Amino acid sequence: MAKFAERMKRLGTETAFAVSAEAARYAEKGNKVYPFHLGDMNIKTPENIIAATKKAMDGGKTGYCSNYGIPELRKLLAEDINRSHGTAYETENVVIEPGGKPVILKSLLALMNPGDEVLYPNPGYPIYESQIEFHGGKALPYTFVEGEKGFKLDTEAMEKLITPRTRFLIFNNLQNPTGAESSHEELEMIAEIVRKHGFWVLSDEAYFDIRYEGKSESIVSFPGMEERSIILYTFSKKFAMTGWRLGAAVGPRGIVDAIAKINVNDESCSNHFVQYGAIEGLTGDQAGPREIVRVLKERREAGFEILNSIEGIRCYKPAGTFYFFPNVTKAMERLRCGDYAKFRKDALARTGVSFCTRLHFGRPIPGEKEKYIRLAYSGIDVDQIREGLTKFKEFVERE
Ligand code: PLP
Repeated sequence: MAKFAERMKRLGTETAFAVSAEAARYAEKGNKVYPFHLGDMNIKTPENIIAATKKAMDGGKTGYCSNYGIPELRKLLAEDINRSHGTAYETENVVIEPGGKPVILKSLLALMNPGDEVLYPNPGYPIYESQIEFHGGKALPYTFVEGEKGFKLDTEAMEKLITPRTRFLIFNNLQNPTGAESSHEELEMIAEIVRKHGFWVLSDEAYFDIRYEGKSESIVSFPGMEERSIILYTFSKKFAMTGWRLGAAVGPRGIVDAIAKINVNDESCSNHFVQYGAIEGLTGDQAGPREIVRVLKERREAGFEILNSIEGIRCYKPAGTFYFFPNVTKAMERLRCGDYAKFRKDALARTGVSFCTRLHFGRPIPGEKEKYIRLAYSGIDVDQIREGLTKFKEFVERE
């Protein structure tokens, strides 16, 4: 048995993949599965992006490219973000990455020393906690409170976590898994806290363009934020390109250069020809991304209606993202089930409905009483949503 390096003890994972493997094993036995567990997409990448990528391959864009990504894409992305954020980014503020996820690791590697403290959302994307701890940082969770209309960031509690060692705030507006979105006033308040204490912000904007009404707003748009923030950008969700692996880090030049240097040491560069597909995504016909949001919205309506009709379940309608994060405390009580794993496994065994629980989104915060599950509707069609959740309703409401 290999003796692994000490740091491996601190490396977490995305436990949703374990749920996925469990669902696959269940399906192999001939059972029907309703996949609500993974935030992957079963919607095809728009044809014009595929065509532009093929053309780039045929045209010989198959060698290495710059470790920063191709300049045309960097420039277009800077302009695209400037339009939605009111920022003044240039080509030099953008480094192309193999997905949005590597931006988490590389931002921390570039700026966080062992022992530095990082505030991160919990429940939240589990890779934050994993990467902070893997690189010797201290992960300090801030959380959300369930209000009348949805989840709200507990800014007061967040501010109490700040010390002279706080180095980073990881902030994911349009949040996975809660779907929480900060109001303009809340963003202003957070920006004020950041300016006052002078730390860095990693603004994870994976779902910035996945929204069904209203308009997304970024913390980076507030005064003084552009020079102390790194935007995690991804092509995965907006263009249904999860498996293509393409994203970017956008921020001050010095940090972009540091991340590009890490790229040389790691993957050398992001996939070359895929970047031409991304150019088409940004500049070509926008019918594709519009259709993606339309399909997701239809799924949201269907799922929301059934979930909220289930006795003991309370669910908010997310304005963005593709996740439901219903409160299932009473439903679990009803089934006399105090254990998340048992609830999840029983639901799978009896209905085929596969989902993640709160436990898949960071270590629970001491004193947490309410129980939540996460259902992703990015990888399941609307008729399957209706069929699966109707079975789930019968499972929860059974006498
Ligand atoms: N950030 C959040 C909050 C996510 O939910 C995801 C993916 O699910 C990512 C980042 C990373 O996505 P990708 O690496 O596909 O760009």
